[in-house]
Amino acid sequence: MSAYTKEQVGNLVDGRLDWDTTVRMLSMPKDHERFSQYLEVLQGKVSWPDKIVLPLGPHLHIVQAAKSKHWLVKCDCGHEFCDYRENWKLSANVYVRDTEEAMLEVYPQLMAPDTQWQVYREYYCPSCGTMHDVEAPTPWYPVIHDFEPDIEAFYKDWLQLPVPERAD
Ligand SMILES: [Zn+2]
Repeated sequence: MSAYTKEQVGNLVDGRLDWDTTVRMLSMPKDHERFSQYLEVLQGKVSWPDKIVLPLGPHLHIVQAAKSKHWLVKCDCGHEFCDYRENWKLSANVYVRDTEEAMLEVYPQLMAPDTQWQVYREYYCPSCGTMHDVEAPTPWYPVIHDFEPDIEAFYKDWLQLPVPERAD
């Protein structure tokens, strides 16, 4: 049975489902079907022709370029950051909250961390200004490269779907 409608998967994508429902959806056995639905919903929200291979965040994706078949990190708005193996954060606009005043814009008073020990780094799309990620590292910590997903294994072993074509 296909238990979840496209609308429900859309709610999942937008983060509008409660936690119980989300867990139930994610722990259902038909992973490949649900993932395909998930990609379909994401694909329906963007206006470019490149195929979404893997979402990295609500508005950031690894895509397969329609013509070249190169895999890139791309924003919803169409901005292309870099090759999918590179750290897209190095091509993003970064705003660092490293003063008490800047911290108090996001933290209630007294709960703000001491900026000697922790800063906020916010990563924005240079074209549309969408915030794609936030890090809260110690000030001297290098820019974090979240993960290099093993997309081939993810498609083959977990989803049991053919791996999208890739040109290098
Ligand atoms: Zn953008």
